[in-house]
Amino acid sequence: MLVRDITSSNRLLTMRQQFVANVSHELRTPLTVVNGYLETISDETASDELRLKLIGKFASPLSRMQALVEDLLLLTQLEASTALAESREVDMSTLITNAVEDVQSLQSYPGQITVRCESEQYVLGTEKELHSVCINLLSNAIRYSGTEGAIEVAWSDHRDRVRLSVTDNGSGIPNEYLDRLTERFFRIDVSGSQARGGTGLGLAIVKHILKRHDSELCIESELNRGSTFYCEFKPVLNPAEIEATSAG
Ligand code: ADP
Repeated sequence: MLVRDITSSNRLLTMRQQFVANVSHELRTPLTVVNGYLETISDETASDELRLKLIGKFASPLSRMQALVEDLLLLTQLEASTALAESREVDMSTLITNAVEDVQSLQSYPGQITVRCESEQYVLGTEKELHSVCINLLSNAIRYSGTEGAIEVAWSDHRDRVRLSVTDNGSGIPNEYLDRLTERFFRIDVSGSQARGGTGLGLAIVKHILKRHDSELCIESELNRGSTFYCEFKPVLNPAEIEATSAG
């Protein structure tokens, strides 16, 4: 008699099917939009003025597809290996300051972003991935806090760990959704997220990167008041300290 547990393989299959359905669904809307524009442009009766106007509208659905494909590729890479490819001491204060500048140059944000780097601790990790964590958390804080938004990014010591936190005074998150936010494509308001350039993959990416850095994402939120997303790391000696220790 052969007994085989098919529950886990069935679950995997369902997850895979669900994932493919989600990706197809995400791509279908911008593709339909682009297709619609192309049909009108190629209509002989369309005026040059209308054609030019429609060409200008291509950018939005195209950049939505590009963001989705880039996030999907990154997530696949992260899932393919649990170990970090290259790991070294990362100066988080500088990394956070750079990430804030990057986000501000990409998105015009009318609100205020305050950076509070109280710790000078370094962490062991991959700079590119830790930068991606900052960018994703900051982009969300911008996306889900209104024009009156005030965001604070902090790097501070917490007992034997160092904490990165991003706090916003935005919409907040209902308690019942907190556990689901890092699921791929989970969004509280799908159209609201899409309209603001979200792919639904940002926090899934953050979760994977943090796991590889021996950390995890924590969320505290109050509806209509705002949210704090934070994670803690084990600090390491920075390169100058290592040199001083070995010299001494
Ligand atoms: P998205 O691209 O939709 O922002 P994410 O994976 O980054 O996808 O986030 C998942 C969902 O979590 C978002 O769609 C939103 O509903 C919620 N969310 C994330 N960050 C915040 C925040 N700072 N304030 C309120 N809701 C948030």
